Amino acid sequence: MSVVKFFSGAKVPLEMHKVRIVQKLNLVPVDRRLEAITEAGNNTFLLKNRDIFLDMLTDSGVNAMSDKQLAAMMECDDSYAGSETFPKLEAAIMDVFGMEYFLPAHQGRAAENIISKVFVSPGTIIPMNYHFTTSKAHIVLNGGLVEEIIIDEGLNVSSSYPFKGNLDTAKLEALVKKHGAKKIAFVRIETGTNLIGGQPHSLQNLREVRKVCDKHGLILVFDASLLADNLYFIKTREKACRNMSINEIAREIGDLCDIIYFSARKLGCARGGGICTRKKEYYMKMRELVTLYEGFLTYGGMSVREIEAIAVGLRETMDEDMISQGPLFIEFMVNELVANGVPVVTPPGGLGCHLDAMRFLPKVPQSEYPAGALATALFIAGGVRGMERGSISEQRDENGNEVYSNMELLRLAMPRRVFTLSQVKYAVDRIVWLYKNRDLVGGLSFIEEPKMLRFFFGKLKAKGDWQKKLVARFKKDFGDSL
Ligand SMILES: *Cc1c(COP(=O)(O)O)cnc(C)c1O
Repeated sequence: MSVVKFFSGAKVPLEMHKVRIVQKLNLVPVDRRLEAITEAGNNTFLLKNRDIFLDMLTDSGVNAMSDKQLAAMMECDDSYAGSETFPKLEAAIMDVFGMEYFLPAHQGRAAENIISKVFVSPGTIIPMNYHFTTSKAHIVLNGGLVEEIIIDEGLNVSSSYPFKGNLDTAKLEALVKKHGAKKIAFVRIETGTNLIGGQPHSLQNLREVRKVCDKHGLILVFDASLLADNLYFIKTREKACRNMSINEIAREIGDLCDIIYFSARKLGCARGGGICTRKKEYYMKMRELVTLYEGFLTYGGMSVREIEAIAVGLRETMDEDMISQGPLFIEFMVNELVANGVPVVTPPGGLGCHLDAMRFLPKVPQSEYPAGALATALFIAGGVRGMERGSISEQRDENGNEVYSNMELLRLAMPRRVFTLSQVKYAVDRIVWLYKNRDLVGGLSFIEEPKMLRFFFGKLKAKGDWQKKLVARFKKDFGDSL
């Protein structure tokens, strides 16, 4: 994406690619949208693609691939062991992170399983800037305790702080002092912090975390799944890095970390994952588990086609035009919403645009799931599918009490190079309409609530008939328009 000056003075992100394969979309009438979300138990995970217009559920495995990636997929070498494809990915890892050892895994959480099994033992502590659902689950499963030590500004929904994903090194020192370095399995930095709105950390912060790790002999593990956005933010928001190339920034990150793992469903625009390290000792410890859980060392549960695509995708990630597309579209969307008074997480981050449901729907209490309610309302208003990232995504405690999340967000992910700007403008329009009619939106309650992962499978119903009223208002305001 280029920041080209428009003669009109307008600030419009300009796509530096052209679209050569398209998929037809449906925009079904509002009555059908209400029916569909009801059939889905008011859970956007359970909607069918044929009823969805803009799928902003996630950026996982749905980013557009390049012509070069597709071409590489045709050249792959399929064999169980000794495939010619695998060294191409190893070479790309070396170029990007400068790390010699690479272990393949079928996706990000599989890498987390292996790292947690090797390094986490009961009673150990894993400090991190912020957790991701699967990262935390694997650590907890192995008896570890997650300590979130993000800077205080990180949890401030509306802010202008450029690096809300930074880890607070004073809090890290305090943890070491309290528990002793031996009890700390590793320190985990998640780049492009997913659950707090795709917010980046700075390169300087990573250097400072490294210093503390060196001082106490701690292992630094880096979750690079959302690295592409974070690289862009380091380059554009961190003054001292302005003259570094994207590749130089990535190489320094590689130099600062002991282990880097990633989901290639995000990083590299394909489907897969892996673990990189410079230390043979760590590689040897994890190697057996890869063959046990994932597959032989030259494929690790991935198809060789995907491995070819990741190798090319990782190299393409070093191109500023490529990685700026997501952040610039998100910035456009966030700024338009802010200009219309809609409460969103600021500053704009990576990954997507996050509506702040607590401020959007102040009358819906957390016990009635404001972010989940907003997700259903936006689907009714525009066929736009988002993901609830609030209390429904949490789990009840041992006593069956609700655990309310820090934030109630509706995440509208921006898969890279997938939507056009007019589609983004359409989403903004429907959100602004919904905001003007927010008094109509009510809460939800569970009708089927699984104990585990209720956000995936749970079913809910609207409290009262607010969704029908919303449809009636839509028809009044939009007439025959879909
Ligand atoms: C998606 C994601 C993961 C898990 O990756 P999968 O490929 O979905 O298993 C881990 N960490 C972060 C930050 C992610 O965004």
